Amino acid sequence: MAQKSTHKFKAEISQLLDILVHSLYTNKEIFLRELVSNASDALEKYRFKASSADNGGDDLPAEIRISVDKDAGTLTVVDTGVGMTREEVMANIGTIAHSGTAELTRLAQEGKEPLDSLIGRFGVGFYSVYMVADEVSVTTRSMEQDAAPVRWTSDGRTDYKLQELDEDLPRGTRIEVKLKEDLKDQFTNVEHLKSVVTRHSNFVNFPIFVGDERVNTVPALWREPKFQITSEQYAEFYKFLSFDTEDPLETMHISVDAPVQFNALLFIPPKNTDFLTGMNRDNWGPDLYVRRVLIQRQNKELLPEYLSFVKGVVDVEDLPLNISRETLQDNIVMRKVSSTLTKQVLSHLEKLAKDNGDRYAEFWKEHGALFKAGYMDFIHKDRYAELVRFNSSASDDADSLSSLADYVSRVKEGQKEIYYAYGASREALSLSPHLEIFRRKGIEVLFLYEPIDEFAMDAIREFGEFKLVAAEHADPATLDEFETVEKKDDVEELSQDDASTLDKLLARIKEVLGDSVTEVKASKRLSDSPVCLSNPDGHVTSSMDKIMRAMSKDTSVPTKVLEVNPDHALVRNMIDIFKQDENDPFIEQAAQQLFESALLLEGYLTDPHALVGRIQSLLTQSSGWYVKSK
Ligand code: ADP
Ligand code: MG
Repeated sequence: MAQKSTHKFKAEISQLLDILVHSLYTNKEIFLRELVSNASDALEKYRFKASSADNGGDDLPAEIRISVDKDAGTLTVVDTGVGMTREEVMANIGTIAHSGTAELTRLAQEGKEPLDSLIGRFGVGFYSVYMVADEVSVTTRSMEQDAAPVRWTSDGRTDYKLQELDEDLPRGTRIEVKLKEDLKDQFTNVEHLKSVVTRHSNFVNFPIFVGDERVNTVPALWREPKFQITSEQYAEFYKFLSFDTEDPLETMHISVDAPVQFNALLFIPPKNTDFLTGMNRDNWGPDLYVRRVLIQRQNKELLPEYLSFVKGVVDVEDLPLNISRETLQDNIVMRKVSSTLTKQVLSHLEKLAKDNGDRYAEFWKEHGALFKAGYMDFIHKDRYAELVRFNSSASDDADSLSSLADYVSRVKEGQKEIYYAYGASREALSLSPHLEIFRRKGIEVLFLYEPIDEFAMDAIREFGEFKLVAAEHADPATLDEFETVEKKDDVEELSQDDASTLDKLLARIKEVLGDSVTEVKASKRLSDSPVCLSNPDGHVTSSMDKIMRAMSKDTSVPTKVLEVNPDHALVRNMIDIFKQDENDPFIEQAAQQLFESALLLEGYLTDPHALVGRIQSLLTQSSGWYVKSK
């Protein structure tokens, strides 16, 4: 008899086990889905290895068998898959926690997402057996030649035992579950087990037997003719694949004969849970099959990353079965499949946008953030430009979406540009001094709330005849030619005399501010604000500038143009004061104050002390005058 050794579980696993063992979770039957899915994975691996090497070809049928012993209160799942060596057992179910284990534990404790879908998505399925088991033993023999069978046993608390066996066992794995007392009746009931298997494992690619009866019936749904498949079947398959509890938002069943032959069944999930939990950002991509044989789960060569919200299965005819995962990467067939699939997904989205705007909006709300990264896909630039959505000054609220085409349908006569501005929120943008002229002229501006939006705009550049222009880069003279819709409060024209004083005043302000600004000039774009900062010609937008500075860890304040609104009451007062005494200290104080307030608005003011001090002294003075005048 070989030695028996005892090993401690890794800490994360213990924690997870603790949650599972004590879970009051009602849908405990999903443990069977997980055991069957592992058995199916093991069979897929066996088939893959056997077809790519010469060591295949024994007579064991590839299948999964579930049996029960009512008296002993046990349930057993047997597969004829790859099996595991001693080292593999230790690595796979004991020592090494999956990367997501800690995250799963956190989410499970939060209790917002059903444990059911968490377990499936996080790849910790094996341990779910401890929701129903007092003890589990895994007896397994690897397909590797001369591999010795091993037995792993554990009550799922703190440690597990390992033992090499002298027996000569067939290839594969046998999992024996000693059921908890209160669950024995339920999970030794063959009829119940059959219904559990049909519910959760109907699409498994290998025959599943419960007792002597084969239970699952629908493998490879993607190879069936479309007209034979009901939407319920599609939804069922989606749930099987994604562990989602809801139906898919969209289903794409694709059959292509040229330039390469393949079938695909793709889905757009109703919610972007992977993205929201920040987890699984690396686990995306459809499962790749070659003529029904699973080659790789979540293959990333099949779709570009900006379509990573798409889940599903792709089954290619024209690839050799023994293709290695490494050579998939620069395989010409794969590239053709990928390019065809990408086009198909984009077409589907275009059609959806056209036929069902509400549903498209739902899609955008969930997956738009990911999709936007598609600005790097230059080949599909035009289609991308049709599919992106933004909020707009013309929308009723922050949730409404506008396409570039929508914008174009609303442009003013003679308008040749599409304008956009980046800001933290709709409120912030609605108050931005840079947009005052747009409000005055009633010209629409697309509102961008995420840094990536500006990259997208930069990449799109043109839409039909229209150039995409950042609002802060728009030429005020061009805008000024449009009719004014929102009148400024009636202001008197500056007299000849005042106009020349203004020039001197601006020069004086420049003198006060020195090198902190490149230029001080009269502004055309302002109506409500006394000043704003703008970029010297040919510069990137302020938000882009901020991103670039953040990346290069540059914390200095950029030098900009100070634009002054000659029609603002404060500026008019400054002109009067300046006329009386060019050296009045108020001019200097006001110049500093206006400049720093503008910096504050742009998010560049790092030290507010001087600004606050000045406000306080100005308030003290003005309140003094107020008291006196009473
Ligand atoms: P996942 O299936 O997502 O990898 P699990 O917790 O379900 O996570 O399983 C952990 C690992 O244990 C599997 O990746 C596999 O290597 C191994 N394993 C589990 N069940 C079997 C089995 N029946 N045959 C071979 N290996 C298995
Ligand atoms: Mg699993």
